[in-house]
Amino acid sequence: MRTILFLSLAALLLGSRADMTEAEEAALTDPTAECAYIPYPPVDNVVSSFPPTGTPVAAIMPNDAAGQATYDQMKANIPNIVPKGVNGTFTVNISKTYDPTDPDCWWTYSLCTTPKLAGLNPDIVAVPEPRTLGYGFDDGPNCSHNAFYDYLTSQNQKATMFFIGGNVMNHPLQAIRAVQDGHEICVHTWSHRPLTTLTNEQVFGELWYTIQLIKLVTGYTPTCWRPPTGDVDDRVRYIAQQLGLVNILWKYDADDWMVSAGEYTPAQVDANYAYLIANVSAGTFDTVGAIMLTHELDNYTMQTAVEKYPLLAAAFDVRYHIVPVGVAYNKTQPYVETNYTQPNFEQYVAARTGSGSGSSGAGGNPGSQSTSKTTGTSAGVSLWPPFAIVLALLAGSFMIWL
Ligand SMILES: [Zn+2]
Repeated sequence: MRTILFLSLAALLLGSRADMTEAEEAALTDPTAECAYIPYPPVDNVVSSFPPTGTPVAAIMPNDAAGQATYDQMKANIPNIVPKGVNGTFTVNISKTYDPTDPDCWWTYSLCTTPKLAGLNPDIVAVPEPRTLGYGFDDGPNCSHNAFYDYLTSQNQKATMFFIGGNVMNHPLQAIRAVQDGHEICVHTWSHRPLTTLTNEQVFGELWYTIQLIKLVTGYTPTCWRPPTGDVDDRVRYIAQQLGLVNILWKYDADDWMVSAGEYTPAQVDANYAYLIANVSAGTFDTVGAIMLTHELDNYTMQTAVEKYPLLAAAFDVRYHIVPVGVAYNKTQPYVETNYTQPNFEQYVAARTGSGSGSSGAGGNPGSQSTSKTTGTSAGVSLWPPFAIVLALLAGSFMIWL
């Protein structure tokens, strides 16, 4: 939390770092230093205009005339679907009482991705380019992501980063680095709660304030998002679409976040990667590519991403068909602002093809990843991961992170 007390204490301890720039922050290699509070006036000065981090957005902030007007404009047409819980917690037995015909196209219930409501865009779960991976990471910016981002840079690799508003508030320089490095930034809500459990105004706030803060910090307004835990229905889809956001889900899941939660072993994550790679070999993606859910959440997930990258690069062939999701869709203008462009798919791949082969791409730093993880590798086939979510829901215990 960027509270005044914390600010004052941190300023006392780290006063000499008040003028740290994004480049200086990006050069840090000590995770403790990376995660220390870094004063950043453009954000510190507007903290009171944004919701507190870590709690569901309950209301449109006082004096937010633009937010109120935007909400007022859409509220009459928001689909009349009852929230499936309260403040991030699902209603007990909701999975038993919910209409099994799934009238709301509730992904958490049925993995529905084609809305029942007319006028709503289908969710993205794959990429149109064959033998291609839409590469992305949820839950950032992680304060100590420099080694991970250095590695991506060393490979001349861009990705789609789904940022949590509260994390951008706490680590704005890390968010700026993502844009500086050429990654594609999307919204992953303000407080990372299952959105179908929230009221219309809360859903609006979770998206609106994350959009506004990313714009304030990076200068760019995102046009894509991913719902935490994949929890979306037609009510939530409507609000997101009204805010100009394209919904990006996934079809493969590394389950990497579950290791730190104590629910998965590294070997199970290895198996999930092996399953994706086996599907490349089996020709599953010969006509349509893949999206796999992976995370910037913690040291384990970032280390695993680094470890697995050479395997993915070898599997998705023709010189690394690993691209940001927007690139795979030839979305050359990823933000509302027109002064930023990213390459289309052909341009992106051509640039990489010319950059050499093997484990090092052109440009960038050699990387500073300094940790090594000792995990066994195991091949095998996992359950289709979303099935685990349904099981968890039916059991009445829903995970917080996804
Ligand atoms: Zn998440």
